Order: sequence, then structure tokens, then C-alpha cells
Amino acid sequence: MAEPYPATFWHRDCTLCGACCAAPDIAALNKPLGVPCQHLDRGCRCAIYESRPKVCRNYTPDWVCGEVAPLPTLEARVRRFLEIYGLA
Ligand code: SF4
Ligand code: SF4
Repeated sequence: MAEPYPATFWHRDCTLCGACCAAPDIAALNKPLGVPCQHLDRGCRCAIYESRPKVCRNYTPDWVCGEVAPLPTLEARVRRFLEIYGLA
């Protein structure tokens, strides 16, 4: 059966690059801008995945992932993520 929609510019698969868990500020976690979430492990996986807050559950991979995920380090990915959103 065909996918309901193809992987497009707007819809991406998450490759666990960690950028969205490190770049934005997340009030529900008291996480400041540009600082990795305390629950992000060394492999860029969420250590509380099953109980992560709603804001994390609602996050959907999009074209920004295609811009940041290929970069070689988490620092570089965070920098690019913040640049894209005009927060650098
Ligand atoms: S920025 Fe995108 S690819 Fe990277 S962890 Fe977040 S959702 Fe996944
Ligand atoms: S709680 Fe988990 S999913 Fe949410 S920002 Fe932290 S590491 Fe990422």
C-alpha cells in the first residue's frame, strides 16, 4: 500500500541528530536556547522517551531536519538550527 503522502520537502524522517533537543528553548523542561536538554544522551537519544513532555511528542520532523542533520557535530547542527530560525 502506498504511503499517504511521499517524503517531501516538508516531511522528513528523524535521523536522531539531536538538534531539536538542543537548539530551541523548551519551557516545559526549563531548557534554555542553545543548551542540550538534560535528557539527551550521548547518542542523541531521549533518555525519557516514553514520558517525554507533550511539546516533544508534538514535534514533527520537517525540512529543517534536512538542513541540520547532515552536519558533522551537534554544535554545528545547533548553530544552523538557530540560524534558520533567526535566533543565532
Ligand atoms: S532536528 Fe529533525 S532529524 Fe534532528 S533529531 Fe530533531 S526531528 Fe530528528
Ligand atoms: S525530553 Fe527528550 S525529546 Fe524532549 S527535548 Fe529532551 S531529549 Fe529531546
